[in-house]
Amino acid sequence: MQHLFGPVLSRRLGLSMGVDLLPHKTCNMGCIYCELGCTRKLTTERASYFSPERVLAEIKSRADEGFDYLTFAGSGEPTLSSDLGQILREAKKIVDSPLAVITNSSLLISKEVRNEISEADVVLPSLDAATPKAFQAIDRPAKSLRIEKIIEGLRALRQEYRGEIWLEVMLVEDVNDDDIEAIARAARSIDPDRIQINTVVRPPAEPVSPLSKERMLEVLNYFNDAELIPDWDWNVPKASEDTILDLLKDRPSTLEEICSRIGMNREKAIKCLKILETEGKISKKPQGGHQYFEVHEKALIQKCLGPGSI
Ligand code: SF4
Repeated sequence: MQHLFGPVLSRRLGLSMGVDLLPHKTCNMGCIYCELGCTRKLTTERASYFSPERVLAEIKSRADEGFDYLTFAGSGEPTLSSDLGQILREAKKIVDSPLAVITNSSLLISKEVRNEISEADVVLPSLDAATPKAFQAIDRPAKSLRIEKIIEGLRALRQEYRGEIWLEVMLVEDVNDDDIEAIARAARSIDPDRIQINTVVRPPAEPVSPLSKERMLEVLNYFNDAELIPDWDWNVPKASEDTILDLLKDRPSTLEEICSRIGMNREKAIKCLKILETEGKISKKPQGGHQYFEVHEKALIQKCLGPGSI
């Protein structure tokens, strides 16, 4: 099994190289919005699923590819891997980029897990509910998990951890949006560095609905200083597309070069590149410790011959 994936362009983490420590869909929850589909192995037991040496060898082999974060996430809940702490500690010696862990927060009640995760530079925990009813509805947790304990674990992490905590709240219409006041209260008591509010923009495996843009803006009022993650305007203006493709046709470029050569801010450039990559118009390749974006051959031909020509 390959443990590294990407780097992917991520709005929250820029160019993020993923590390997966678990067999497909091993989790202690079965969130209704999960993009990975049904949880295949529902467990709360931590275990060593793969040899840490193998994972570290893979990290080492790709350490020079140039990415903003090495991000532990992937096929399930990364804290279920009992090798997480050791791998984070060793990975720090191998890569220059900061380390991030995306977690569903469930095991943060354990001091051992908090100590392990504290090796990361950024922790991105989720909090989708603050009452048992909403917790059951949205996250469908393993029987032993209690939302009150999870919130306690998040507070303890805040007190002990010196790195950044970016708390994500995922909202699904008619499932947990009624819990928002309680979630906001819990978030205040946790005091993360950032609160990022999200809704289901990419189609998950189950038929669930996102909150409307208007409702999401309303939700922001419950928090002191939260950010909205979804982007309702998922397109690249024609002029920006042409400028980027012309630039890359001349010369493959890094994200930083693209931003400075066309005077585009990083967040907007990430969005445009992500869309163009999804549409198969550009691709990226590592070279000399950087990720270079280049025009995909198909887009080049299309650009020369005009739309609809192939
Ligand atoms: S915690 Fe993450 S991996 Fe587990 S079911 Fe929820 S979204 Fe999927």
